[in-house]
Amino acid sequence: MTNLTMATTLDEAKAASGEIRAGGTDIMDRRRHLISTGDIIDISKVSGYDDITATDDGGYRIGAKVKLDTVANHPDLIEKYPGFAMATGALATPQIRYMATMGGVLLQTTRCWYYRNDGFHNCYKKGGDSCPSREGDHRFGVAFDISPCAFPHPSTVGMVLMNYDAQVEINGSEIRSIADIYGDGKDPAITHTLKDGEILTNIILPAPTSDERASYFRSISRARAEWALVETSVRMVVDDSDTIILARVAIGGVAHIPMTLPNVEEALVGQPATEETFEAAAKVAIEGVNPLPQTTYKVPLIYGTVLETLNRAYNRIWGGEG
Ligand SMILES: Cc1cc2nc3c(=O)[nH]c(=O)nc-3n(C[C@H](O)[C@H](O)[C@H](O)COP(=O)(O)OP(=O)(O)OC[C@H]3O[C@@H](n4cnc5c(N)ncnc54)[C@H](O)[C@@H]3O)c2cc1C
Repeated sequence: MTNLTMATTLDEAKAASGEIRAGGTDIMDRRRHLISTGDIIDISKVSGYDDITATDDGGYRIGAKVKLDTVANHPDLIEKYPGFAMATGALATPQIRYMATMGGVLLQTTRCWYYRNDGFHNCYKKGGDSCPSREGDHRFGVAFDISPCAFPHPSTVGMVLMNYDAQVEINGSEIRSIADIYGDGKDPAITHTLKDGEILTNIILPAPTSDERASYFRSISRARAEWALVETSVRMVVDDSDTIILARVAIGGVAHIPMTLPNVEEALVGQPATEETFEAAAKVAIEGVNPLPQTTYKVPLIYGTVLETLNRAYNRIWGGEG
């Protein structure tokens, strides 16, 4: 017998025990497949944490219960954080974006089909000591193999928020960097570092960068409604002589955590914003890849996706699937 707590305040949610349910689009899929079987704390009726407000330092605070659709269509976010709004509006489906929350998209669980199949028990993320995907079919697996778990992190928004140096607020007060909530990615048992009883309450965006060019581009295996094989977020500022003075590049679908690519950023800053520079930087993106036997195809895909996103960012092309 499992318990469902319908919390109406943050304190009620913190006092209960169980797995948080926000929009329910991830957890209820796992309930149906008997992967999540314990108690549930539903936070959809908790008061607050459902709006987007400007902060005193020129940034924005986004409540953990804010829906993806709201972020994707928010005029200020579209203007000031284009890469973030663009990516949020490009993932999943309109129905999912209407239900899913900012907290849930950051803390969603792996999409590995062995993990999500109740016929496979010996998986690190189910308390086991092996990775059935690594031993079996890992065609959608990692290309930067940094963890015993062979499946990439699912969060598009986590990847993009790393590119914006966002912070998150836990339990209404404690501030952590977005990178902290994913850690170094080595622990195969987790998809984020939050402990039981910790509730993500807000996301904090620093003040925007003026005249930012940005884009988001994903390479996927079907036209819609699928996690990306490789996805990239690029932010760029160029000066009057078209020299790149700021470059931020992050990548998802390729490692056990969303990653930024500081080597690619270094290859861009100080260089003219030309096709040659973008090609050289995209080559840097594939330095250090160590794909699995079935994910070698992701190496040229990383090169192509990074290159495409750089070009789209420079040309301010509103992006999405590819
Ligand atoms: C067809 C399809 C395609 C998709 N494609 C993509 C994609 O390309 N990129 C992508 O990023 N996602 C994708 N998704 C996943 C989707 O974005 C997530 O299911 C959704 O964002 C989860 O949000 P939710 O509010 O419904 O989370 P829930 O299902 O309610 O929760 C998800 C997890 O987060 C935890 N959680 C939720 N909120 C909090 C909180 N405030 N504090 C602590 N823990 C919390 C829950 O305990 C649970 O473990 C896709 C989904 C579908 C169905």
